[in-house]
Amino acid sequence: MHLHLGNTARAFDLMRRISQCGKGVREGCSFLCEDVGLWAVMAVAAYRNDPEDPKISLSLDKIISSFEYCKKADAYDELLYGRVGYLYALQFIRSHLPPPILPGEISSLARDTVKLILQSGISTSSSSSTESHGDPPLLYKWHGKTYLGAAHGISGTLTILMREHRIFHHGDLLTEEKLSMIERTVDWLISKIDAEDNLPSSLESSGGKELVQFCHGNPGLILVLVEGCKLFGKRKNDWMEVAERAGEVVWVKGLLRKGVGLCHGISGNAFALVALYDLTGDIKWLHRTQAFANIALDIVRGKSDQHTHTPDHPYILYEGMAGLAWLIDDLVKDHIGGFPAFTDTEYT
Ligand SMILES: [Zn+2]
Repeated sequence: MHLHLGNTARAFDLMRRISQCGKGVREGCSFLCEDVGLWAVMAVAAYRNDPEDPKISLSLDKIISSFEYCKKADAYDELLYGRVGYLYALQFIRSHLPPPILPGEISSLARDTVKLILQSGISTSSSSSTESHGDPPLLYKWHGKTYLGAAHGISGTLTILMREHRIFHHGDLLTEEKLSMIERTVDWLISKIDAEDNLPSSLESSGGKELVQFCHGNPGLILVLVEGCKLFGKRKNDWMEVAERAGEVVWVKGLLRKGVGLCHGISGNAFALVALYDLTGDIKWLHRTQAFANIALDIVRGKSDQHTHTPDHPYILYEGMAGLAWLIDDLVKDHIGGFPAFTDTEYT
């Protein structure tokens, strides 16, 4: 969050103190919940503080060696603890560090990670009994369940895959056959939307009260459809309609009582609404985003009578106020920069 706000000195100082603790978050390959995220942020904070700092290459070396976790046969694919989280970390450093600083192998590591994610999806699809659920070409499971949303599920995985092809390899990464697999898997996801326009959290969920938050449900569906529309262009006008219907559900049900954070809070749902503004240009979605941001601000200022629980980590990016600070900063600067630590990376 400090890097995003331009507080380089604060970001670097925090990262320096964390590295002096000598203790990471958790061994593994992902950006959001494991050590790779620490090293990626450290590399960028160190570079902005002093482009000659040896911590930059030390951090990048650790990210490169963490590819070993992706190669493990039992590695997960999803965003928070899996290969997709590693691919996002590679996107993050490529979007913030210039080529002379980045080792040449980063791009080929990204290609290899995409191959592993696709192989895993094809293999899980062919080995799963999905007769009652149709037949998606790519299927992913986390702890035995087929999650459909952004955090652990297929929406998040496909979003990062498509961004890798569209933004970081300028369209030369995936063959037509692989693109068709992604397209058909998104269509399959759409077929799982229930009668009330909600995407269930998983294939195994019993239905009824569905979640409407980034980690599970419609916000993740919106983000994968927005990315799909950008990648596949005009032939996906029907996806735009589905995304807007999903947005109506977020607008009606998305003022969550779980705090103002990104993962399962109001700010995360606001970022899904602003993604619809980015896609459609319809000012309604920007106004709705601003309304959610204003309510979230009132909640943290104690001015709202909306009952909300205090999350376990009330200040951190994905669960707390830092996510709201990022949202407000984007709105004040009139900058539609994507969902933090998910669709916020660009590469030229
Ligand atoms: Zn969550």
